[in-house]
Amino acid sequence: MRIAMIGTGYVGLVSGACFSEFGVDTVCVDKDQSKIERLKRGEIPIYEPGLDDLVAKNAKAGRLSFTTDLAEGVRGADAVFIAVGTPSRRGDGHADLSYVYAAAEEIARALDPDSYTVIVTKSTVPVGTGREVARIVRRTRPEADFDVCSNPEFLREGSAIGDFLRPDRVVIGTDSDRARAVMRGLYRPLYLIETPIVMTSLETAELIKYAANTFLATKITFINEIADLCERVGADVHDVAKGIGLDGRIGKKFLHPGPGYGGSCFPKDTLALVRTAADAGSPLRIVETVVDVNDRRKKAMADRVVAACGGSVEGRRIGVLGVTFKPNTDDMRDAPSLDIIPALQAAGAAVHAFDPAGMHEAARMLPDVTWCPDAYAALDGADCAVIITEWNEFRALDLRRVREVMKAPVMVDLRNVYTAEDMEMAGFDYHSIGRPSLL
Ligand code: NAD
Repeated sequence: MRIAMIGTGYVGLVSGACFSEFGVDTVCVDKDQSKIERLKRGEIPIYEPGLDDLVAKNAKAGRLSFTTDLAEGVRGADAVFIAVGTPSRRGDGHADLSYVYAAAEEIARALDPDSYTVIVTKSTVPVGTGREVARIVRRTRPEADFDVCSNPEFLREGSAIGDFLRPDRVVIGTDSDRARAVMRGLYRPLYLIETPIVMTSLETAELIKYAANTFLATKITFINEIADLCERVGADVHDVAKGIGLDGRIGKKFLHPGPGYGGSCFPKDTLALVRTAADAGSPLRIVETVVDVNDRRKKAMADRVVAACGGSVEGRRIGVLGVTFKPNTDDMRDAPSLDIIPALQAAGAAVHAFDPAGMHEAARMLPDVTWCPDAYAALDGADCAVIITEWNEFRALDLRRVREVMKAPVMVDLRNVYTAEDMEMAGFDYHSIGRPSLL
């Protein structure tokens, strides 16, 4: 089988490489010429563990190629996937579908007149988008033989390849038996390992993706508020999370407190679902509250640092460890650091920071930060250390060395990677989330 992947970003590149690993002949298309040139040279434009080997292997086998020419990619494809961005529209929080619709029109123009094609939205798109894609294609090419399908993607950055190759489920939404058969063919290796496949309607598949992301965002926000309550009443949020998570109805995952969710999906998808629901006359008041609580939380994190510094950071140096929205990615979209660092700077602090993969991207978004070559350099001379992202290398810092290089042994650990006991023994004034302080 042969597919085209339109949009070669975090989702398109990983999905394209994984389909080629399944044995599907895959062409990844992107408008960004420099991205495609780098991929053709064998360079990977994003940080994603294992992706370099997977791309190299399948490109060498001749199953995976890259082009900026959409028509070349679409020619002869059994399925064309749309994996372009759907960011928040400025001003109203609706998903910006302009990239999706532009891609649909371009695909329509490139469709082979003599063969059947399934047009699949892999991008996260609001209910109704698939039908609109079908309308655009029909309007542009009334004679085209095609069907539309929704196949939302659930991979997580940082573990994207494993998530794609061994997913919890695959969701396929379409009205067409013919399209279903093509999609079954593409996902055949997953059928063989008995991955649950949810076959449903277009609208339902589109909504499943938003319902999944908003549920997870709600779970995170819930435990974050419980963490705040723990601090007030002297309870330990990790024990609470364990105590509730062992109940199979609740589940253990996504009960880790932190500075608020960020990233390329949860913030925009929660907001978009709130807008969809309001427009449909069926408001989602829980999700509205989640969005509000999370926004406030990200902003409030800087106050914790200020409090740990005795009420002011004016003229102080803050050493920040981790700026990406989570570990094992270079993605900075809606990262909590984008709220925390400017707030500290506005309060008069000088911020020195280190991140293992995100500094290149972060430097464009966070001006006036001194970027350092490693964690110890970021903490050198600091009045306070702040862990924003839980990269593994921050879990095993040489605490004696950290104390030696810092001006004052104050640490604000927004990911709870250390324990209060260990930090007290190491001589730190330690502040974490939702756990009783030893003081
Ligand atoms: P991204 O910004 O990394 O990639 C999108 C790519 O599409 C860009 O390289 C852009 O140049 C390209 N593009 C835009 N219009 C194009 C066109 N007409 N022709 C060719 N290329 C075009 O975005 P992403 O993170 O991969 O997200 C893509 C979609 O997948 C979004 O809807 C997102 O919500 C969804 N999603 C993302 C993740 C994630 O973890 N990043 C997970 C699941 C779903």
